[in-house]
Amino acid sequence: MAEESTSEFDVVVLGSGAAGLTAALAASDSGASVGIFEKSAFLGGTTAMSGGVIWMPNNHHQHEHEIEDSREMALSYLESLSLGQIDSDMAATFVDRGPEMLEWVEKDTPCSFHIVEGYSDYHPEHPGGLPSGGRSLDNALFPLSELGEWAKKIRNDGMRSPVMITETPLGGATTPPSREVMSARTERNESGMGLALVAALLKGVLDRGIQPQTESRALRLLKDGNGVCGVSIKSGDSKKEIIARKGVIIATGGFEWNSELVKTFLRGPMTAPVGNPENTGDGLEMAMEAGARLGNMRNAWWVPVTKIPGESLFGHPSSRLIITERTRPHSLMVNRDGVRFTNEAGNYNAMGGAFHSFDPQKFEYQNIPCWLIFDHHYKLRYDIAGSRPGEHIPDWMHTSETIQGLAEVIDVPTGSLDETVKRFNEYASVGEDPDFHRGVSAYDTFNGDQSISGVEATLQPLDSPPFYAIKIESGSLGTNGGPKTDVSGRVLSIEGGVIPGLFAAGNAMAAPTGMVYGGAGGTIGPAMTFGFIAGKAAASR
Ligand SMILES: Cc1cc2nc3c(=O)[nH]c(=O)nc-3n(C[C@H](O)[C@H](O)[C@H](O)COP(=O)(O)OP(=O)(O)OC[C@H]3O[C@@H](n4cnc5c(N)ncnc54)[C@H](O)[C@@H]3O)c2cc1C
Repeated sequence: MAEESTSEFDVVVLGSGAAGLTAALAASDSGASVGIFEKSAFLGGTTAMSGGVIWMPNNHHQHEHEIEDSREMALSYLESLSLGQIDSDMAATFVDRGPEMLEWVEKDTPCSFHIVEGYSDYHPEHPGGLPSGGRSLDNALFPLSELGEWAKKIRNDGMRSPVMITETPLGGATTPPSREVMSARTERNESGMGLALVAALLKGVLDRGIQPQTESRALRLLKDGNGVCGVSIKSGDSKKEIIARKGVIIATGGFEWNSELVKTFLRGPMTAPVGNPENTGDGLEMAMEAGARLGNMRNAWWVPVTKIPGESLFGHPSSRLIITERTRPHSLMVNRDGVRFTNEAGNYNAMGGAFHSFDPQKFEYQNIPCWLIFDHHYKLRYDIAGSRPGEHIPDWMHTSETIQGLAEVIDVPTGSLDETVKRFNEYASVGEDPDFHRGVSAYDTFNGDQSISGVEATLQPLDSPPFYAIKIESGSLGTNGGPKTDVSGRVLSIEGGVIPGLFAAGNAMAAPTGMVYGGAGGTIGPAMTFGFIAGKAAASR
């Protein structure tokens, strides 16, 4: 491999997702010269493929909507969900500095956010939770034409239409924008969601004269007597040494696409990563080699998914998120014994816990794989993993005229599935689910059928044949364990103190909210906040 000349920056950022781009902007605004190095040919990482929603307690947009929130409410909410896994200083730092980051990023970059009205927190009944929303913020549309040739450099999975989350069922909308509106947006080359977030952050970066370098994979941290002083980068066939006068910020995402690290660290099976395939834990391994103290390694942002045979994305088998599909009426989920095991309408991240429930006698994870079961009424009315509502039955969807027949097709005990559906239908007929309380939480109904009010938005019987089933697996939007940091984003050393010159942000760091996904945007909100904190701290060394 050829060695190239050395270049120098004050701050070197590894990775170009929400965490990396925000870190670069903050470092630059604090007077540092900044280099961004991205392993992939495309910028934006999983962030560009995401909904782009950020969760930000106590944010300034709440004032316009007269939503009551406070530092204390946010902290008691996180504390109530902590299970002893949240470092209270880190949580307080997120809650305190997040609103500051948001005001700055909206004032000094093209980023613009608005509240997703009514989007309940994910555990709204916990102390300090907001059942009527206010903490989840959506991106404005962004015209990619403002980026010139750089627009083609953003990771685009080709599944993005120019809409905002607020205009989709996930954001509570019942009707999409009109065809005229959509074609005008397409003509203006507008994007929404994560693509818009990355585009707006990238515009800010380019406006500051920073040119991110793609196909530039960080391999190893360089150290001298004062700590980390740079990084070795592989670019094509050549390798270069980049000197970081003030600091290196690891923002390389999680390790969800590295099956060895997944097996080593995660607390239970995760068979379907759904984000950027280049997130293979490089940052974690570099930090380990530098002697970092690790945290939150067992956790990830969990999500139920289905795999559609033959579908792939960026050359890897892909999976589709199962979010609103689980929450709509006329459906339920069963495990391989044909019994329900959780509130199907609960939030996707917490459902990871149900997937990791272990039967010691059978010595198996009893709830994976599991099945989403629905009836014909549902089939005619709702999208299912990208399949439009209607009579067409894709190959990957199992079907039968009877529940017993469906049980045979998917190989679960016939009597058991029959009994489960009968019991569920009785509950649905009286609008109450004593087993799992489906429909009681404001979250359940927000993600149900928004055109129906009350518990029926999510709880209605499966009584219209034929019946259908799709297989569900345990997936992840990204892992969230990694080097532990202090409240300034400085990576802690296994020997005590910090590793001078080394910072981390986003999914590459030990998540400041532990295993808690507070509400929609619960990963990108903290990622941008700690990107901001690390960028400023590195620049001011
Ligand atoms: C479909 C989908 C929807 C989602 N929606 C939301 C949402 O609305 N809100 C929310 O909060 N979360 C959402 N998530 C999760 C969220 O996208 C991620 O948690 C978040 O974007 C992670 O940001 P990041 O900056 O840490 O990492 P990423 O955005 O993944 O960026 C990491 C970057 O580092 C690069 N990299 C890796 N290794 C190296 C290396 N060695 N050298 C240089 N670069 C490297 C990667 O290529 C990548 O570009 C969603 C995820 C998916 C898949």
